[in-house]
Amino acid sequence: MRRILFVVFAAAVFSAPIVGQDAAGVIDAAAKAMGTSTLQSIQYTGTGSVNPTGQAEITGGAWPRFTVTKYTAMLNYTVPAMRQELVRIDDMSPPRGGGAGGYNPATGQGGIRPIPGDIIQNTNVDGRTEVGAVNLWLTPHGFLKGAAANAATAKVSKAGGKTLVSFTAFSKYAVTGTLNAQNLVERVETKIDVSFTGDTLFEGIYSDYKDFGGVKFPSRLVMRQGGFPILEVNVASVTPNSAAAMEIGKGAPPAVTPPAPVSIKAEKIGEGVWFLNFGAPQSILVEFKDYAVIVEGPASDERTLATLAEAKRMFPNKPVKYLVNTHHHADHSGGIRGYVAEGVPIVTHETHKRYYEQVIFKAPHTLNPDRLARNPRAPVIETVKDKRVITDGTMTLEIHLVKDHPHAQGLLMVYIPSEKMLIQADAFAPRPGAAPLPAPSPYTINLVDNVTRLKLDVQKVAHVHGGVDPYTTVVRAAGR
Ligand SMILES: [Zn+2]
Repeated sequence: MRRILFVVFAAAVFSAPIVGQDAAGVIDAAAKAMGTSTLQSIQYTGTGSVNPTGQAEITGGAWPRFTVTKYTAMLNYTVPAMRQELVRIDDMSPPRGGGAGGYNPATGQGGIRPIPGDIIQNTNVDGRTEVGAVNLWLTPHGFLKGAAANAATAKVSKAGGKTLVSFTAFSKYAVTGTLNAQNLVERVETKIDVSFTGDTLFEGIYSDYKDFGGVKFPSRLVMRQGGFPILEVNVASVTPNSAAAMEIGKGAPPAVTPPAPVSIKAEKIGEGVWFLNFGAPQSILVEFKDYAVIVEGPASDERTLATLAEAKRMFPNKPVKYLVNTHHHADHSGGIRGYVAEGVPIVTHETHKRYYEQVIFKAPHTLNPDRLARNPRAPVIETVKDKRVITDGTMTLEIHLVKDHPHAQGLLMVYIPSEKMLIQADAFAPRPGAAPLPAPSPYTINLVDNVTRLKLDVQKVAHVHGGVDPYTTVVRAAGR
């Protein structure tokens, strides 16, 4: 009885979905209302903000915000292709979270925040690739073009006075657009694969439409990933069928070079301490009498496999007992699912435990199943509050909280007393050959303050993003 009532109720609220021919009619009507049918290309400009993903200050929190002083997007629907040019400034004071990007010797920018000056960030999207197509469908007119191309299998339904149009492409991306009463696209959403967070919600929210010679375009665009903004644009100008935009993506599609296979090179940086090199960030292996400990599990599943293989090659009889995770940023933690898949316990700050258990180790990875998704295994997470010591009498490794660090809440650093060596992540970045920063970074000042507070006898500092410096270099960078 209860079941029958539910069915009747549901039927009253949601009309039966419309498919095929009728869906094509709905999509066509929206394309006419939006002016999409007349649109071959478009250029729009504005200002707003951009937020690098995976770089939140607080575990599971919003991505850090950078102001965008100049934004230009050019879309050529005939290829399809898109180019996005923006200038961002690091004007959060003090900066909180990551997003500095790698250090660029040509500009002297990156590595650490605050980043001085204008940061130019240009991206090209090739809509002939799977990921590129998804990005184009998440634009207001791009959605209707994608829906029209997939109209034969598209579904239309109504909810709360709005029309929902959904289509599935490449047999895996379910894209849903919401049309308002005026038949304007006010929201598009899908799920994309992010190696750290798995199937991740990706949304575009469009509002305050205006008319540009028969083409409707929103005055405000908000893109969100994982529930938090990644781009907000207050649109200043719109040029439908722009000649400049028609140039985007012309010529052959860019050659896709497969990524170089991961090949880890061990580099000894102290007695019993090795960098396991492959790009940045990297892992650091610490040798104990009967086991090894790896500090940092960056990047990806593939990197984790290669790192564990190198550890095994170096010390066939010393199993990896722990993976020490300095913080929750995606570049530093992208490989921790791989360690869980291998049964290696994760040591991290207590603030990350819940996020790792509830999101990182639980979120579905259906779009691109990694090893943990294919062979689920319960994670073992051991937490640190202020300090934890791992020792066997021959080697000692101290894990300390970098208290109140603005880069990441719950940031950990590692100290190896026998080597007077500190291992740090994202609190200092070497700037070889570059002019000093206009002012010492609060990230480096905080690091030095923590070393002083803990009375650690540090002589050299190994950086998870690469390189080893005398501690004096770090102290100088802190302006002390
Ligand atoms: Zn970071």
